[in-house]
Amino acid sequence: MIPLVKPYFPPREELMPELENIIYSGYVAEGQPVYDFEDKFRNYIGNKNCLALHSGTDALHLAYILAGVTPGDEIISTPMTAEPTNTSIAMVGAKVVWGDVNPNNGLLDPSSVRQLITDKTKAIVLVHYAGMVCDMDEFNKISEEFNIPIIEDAAHALGSKYNGKLIGCNSAYTAFSLQAIKHMTTVDGGFLAMRDANQMDRARRMRWFGLDKKRSRLENDITEVGFKYAMNNVNATIGLVQMRHVESIIAKYISNGRFYDQKLAGVDGVTLVDYNPNTEASYWLYTMKVEQREDFIKAMESAGILASPLHHRSDTHSIFKDSRRDLPGMEKWYNNFVHIPCGWWITEEDREKIVDIIKKGW
Ligand SMILES: *Cc1c(COP(=O)(O)O)cnc(C)c1O
Repeated sequence: MIPLVKPYFPPREELMPELENIIYSGYVAEGQPVYDFEDKFRNYIGNKNCLALHSGTDALHLAYILAGVTPGDEIISTPMTAEPTNTSIAMVGAKVVWGDVNPNNGLLDPSSVRQLITDKTKAIVLVHYAGMVCDMDEFNKISEEFNIPIIEDAAHALGSKYNGKLIGCNSAYTAFSLQAIKHMTTVDGGFLAMRDANQMDRARRMRWFGLDKKRSRLENDITEVGFKYAMNNVNATIGLVQMRHVESIIAKYISNGRFYDQKLAGVDGVTLVDYNPNTEASYWLYTMKVEQREDFIKAMESAGILASPLHHRSDTHSIFKDSRRDLPGMEKWYNNFVHIPCGWWITEEDREKIVDIIKKGW
């Protein structure tokens, strides 16, 4: 069965010696490899304020704190995401306010968000779902007009672009995940990219219990509670090796995604998604809408190809019951969208075969 997600690791001969070295080096906690990985990642993204963390969820949690969100505040978010986007809002005691999604791509709809802003709104979190980029032109306008920071959850969007620049340089905060199934993995890991260099020191202390790593333990005074969110040298060493491959790996997702965009246009029973202006997707998953989704999934399965919607909508979880409201755009989108495999493991032969099977109908 061709899977929908699959972790990429560099060749064994390249990765294993470096991994073995670090494991037996006598220093596996946060150290030089983490700082070197941060430098490489900063250069790649084009934002000098990037902090390596243990996970993408940690990055989101810190972003909400740095944005000044406190209990009782509201954050406008999307139900069309993986759970951590929203469980981390609950972690800071804020209320999730569900924006509706554009029924043609599942991404947060700016006009819906605009109507939901109150004086309690402290942040808007945008999820570039499956690597498609939200309507940044409109969201930037909203952010400026109401002076509300945007937090981009870019867990699916490493390599996606807005205005020709990689995601990670556009908003107050951007969270990346290096979890097992994302474009690039360090087994687990994450990055928080931010606009304001002055917040880096505070963020750095918060990733390490509130301690300042630049001072000795005996001279330290914790003035604000922090967390155990640091990346370690083992994950960072994997990351350093991954960075040599990341661009060519992401290029494969994009090439396959664009191939489907071309070949599936106008195919019976398929509706392609609308991409937002000035954006370029990095196709973490290829996303489209199909008629008779159950039948489509079965037809693909019998041809040895996994097709699935993958994520459960977040607004139906009991912990968010006080936030529930009608989301007509989400209703239209949620029952029709599906993903097909498009990652680095899909060969030119595979993608031709996938298109042929879809064209045969279901
Ligand atoms: C994976 C993911 C996260 C969280 O990342 P972790 O590194 O697993 O903590 C956050 N948001 C979305 C949309 C994700 O898919």
